[in-house]
Amino acid sequence: MTRTAIVTGAARGIGAATAQRLAADGFAVAVLDLDEAACAGTVGSIVDAGGRAIAVGANVADAASVERAVARVVDELGAPTVLVNNAGIIRDNLLFKMTEDDWDAVLAVHLRGAFLMSRAVQEHQVAARWGRIVNLSSTSALGNRGQANYAAAKAGMQGFTKTLAIELGRYGVTANAIAPGFIVTDMTRSTAERMGVPFEDFVAHAATEIPVQRAGTPDDIAAAASFFCSDEAGFVSGQVLYVAGGPRA
Ligand code: NAP
Repeated sequence: MTRTAIVTGAARGIGAATAQRLAADGFAVAVLDLDEAACAGTVGSIVDAGGRAIAVGANVADAASVERAVARVVDELGAPTVLVNNAGIIRDNLLFKMTEDDWDAVLAVHLRGAFLMSRAVQEHQVAARWGRIVNLSSTSALGNRGQANYAAAKAGMQGFTKTLAIELGRYGVTANAIAPGFIVTDMTRSTAERMGVPFEDFVAHAATEIPVQRAGTPDDIAAAASFFCSDEAGFVSGQVLYVAGGPRA
């Protein structure tokens, strides 16, 4: 029986790599992102590799959009039992310059988005008596200059994850969080642009401060997600795995 996974924010970056990895692991994958057309590349790469995937346009922060998206996945791929809450945005600013919109937008996508998606998917996991939820936290949960909103959201993801693990464990559902360090994606590229630093220099400098002396790749995170979504990880729940090339940011 093919199991169905939903990966949010999967048009690019960590989400795209995770969708590709879960498809290679044998899941049918719903590649969900704000812009359905932007998911074509991820879906195409999965199908070309012999996997099964569909593109789903949805805003994870909007309850009606989430309900529609999950209903479509049920119809077109089958009831989802794996959910990777990966969609994310940054609106960095020092506290004294941070606007209410900066705060609300970041908490809406990460926390409200993970809540709405998990609430919609758990019904199918409970019915199947099996499920996996993986939430993207960050080393920024430990505190990061200019990211009061993002750090709060990513620390919140950890408490959310542990609570899902406690509530859903009796139904065969695990929930775990991955806290990436510096990963080369459009998100870190936009941070370099905002700081006026060439991306290559930004990455090279980051690598000097990471114990394994390199920046992370989306595949580094996809590998951790693959483990948490596997059958053999059924006794691992409520954990936060820092995937950062070292013990912390
Ligand atoms: P990315 O390249 O910016 O990709 C994020 C994706 O999420 C984009 O395709 C974006 O769509 C989508 N998205 C944003 N808001 C959405 C919404 N409301 N509904 C649905 N999709 C939405 O980011 P990434 O670097 O791969 O990061 C993925 C996750 O890992 C995020 O949760 C991030 O916070 C976390 N993380 C990243 C790093 C890092 O170093 N890169 C480190 C730690 C944690 P649009 O393009 O249309 O906005």
